[in-house]
Amino acid sequence: MSRDSRHVILAQISCPSPSNIFPSRINNINQDRPEKMIDKIDEDLLVCSACGTQFDTDDRAELSECYICKDPRQFIPPSGQAFSTLRTLKENSYRNEWRTIHENHQTGNHLYSIVTKPKFGIGQRAFLLKTPHGNILWDLIAFIDSETIEKIQSLGGLTGIVISHPHYYTTYVTWARHFKCPVYVSIEDMSWMTRQIVSDVDRHLIRESYATIIPGITAIKCGGHFPGSLVLHWTEDHGILFIADTIVTVPSGLNPSPRHSDQSTYTFMWSIPNMIPMSVDDIHQIWTRIKPYNFKRTFGAFEGLEVSPATIIDGDSKFEEFGLKKRLLDSMKIVAKQQSGGFEGHALFKESA
Ligand SMILES: [Zn+2]
Ligand SMILES: [Zn+2]
Repeated sequence: MSRDSRHVILAQISCPSPSNIFPSRINNINQDRPEKMIDKIDEDLLVCSACGTQFDTDDRAELSECYICKDPRQFIPPSGQAFSTLRTLKENSYRNEWRTIHENHQTGNHLYSIVTKPKFGIGQRAFLLKTPHGNILWDLIAFIDSETIEKIQSLGGLTGIVISHPHYYTTYVTWARHFKCPVYVSIEDMSWMTRQIVSDVDRHLIRESYATIIPGITAIKCGGHFPGSLVLHWTEDHGILFIADTIVTVPSGLNPSPRHSDQSTYTFMWSIPNMIPMSVDDIHQIWTRIKPYNFKRTFGAFEGLEVSPATIIDGDSKFEEFGLKKRLLDSMKIVAKQQSGGFEGHALFKESA
């Protein structure tokens, strides 16, 4: 089967009916609230301080807890559940910091990261992929202000926002409204979306394992961390893979070359903060989905989690690495072997890079 034939199939839902399409994790607290009123108060809607999820209410009495934080994959901080708003964050001098990661004036492809300072919520970064086919924002941060909007508009606006999984859905409605662009998420995870009764945001539900967002940029559905967890592949610079929380970069993956071939680069977690590992079956599925793609660099969700090729020492020989696929598979086998008590009977051990 060719890569193209497996691609695509995006369902566009621009006017979802919340009762049957989006079974909410919380009681639909805004069911009776007029939509126009919600439009007006975007800035004042409650945003979870621990994870950045924006809710459909500005009334703290309506919101006892954040369902993202309550899930076993996240946590309620020792200080308890707290909420802020975009307006409060702006008044408290939060800002978004930009970093230029890659510029290619021949192809016109540029890569930037955006992270909120001081840290808010989980602390992840978003990536802006600027291309001649349009600009894509990969993953999302809760904080958005006029400076961020102006900067993105000056780079050409957004063609789409692709969000890897529910931990980073955050304030997707506010972002989508400002840039008038669709938001792509996996259909498997749609019940985790808040802000379900707004009708002016295009939510594209990715149904298949692979979805071409624009030429050269493909969302790959790997599952594991969440049933619909995505990674994003970009053909630029011999392949760049944005791994979000689907694949976790470990400290030994960051050491400078030369490195040894039996060292792990990645691990695979159902819960990252609570350190609950993923099953070997889920790890194997991540491999089978990513296997058709080549990539030379990976970018994790947090600053500093960037892996590039290295000089590898394998026994007595030394070789220059040209891609990271073998390191991904080696890491999977290291984790799977420990989880299987040393037994190498799982089909994952028959895979080769
Ligand atoms: Zn939360
Ligand atoms: Zn996550």
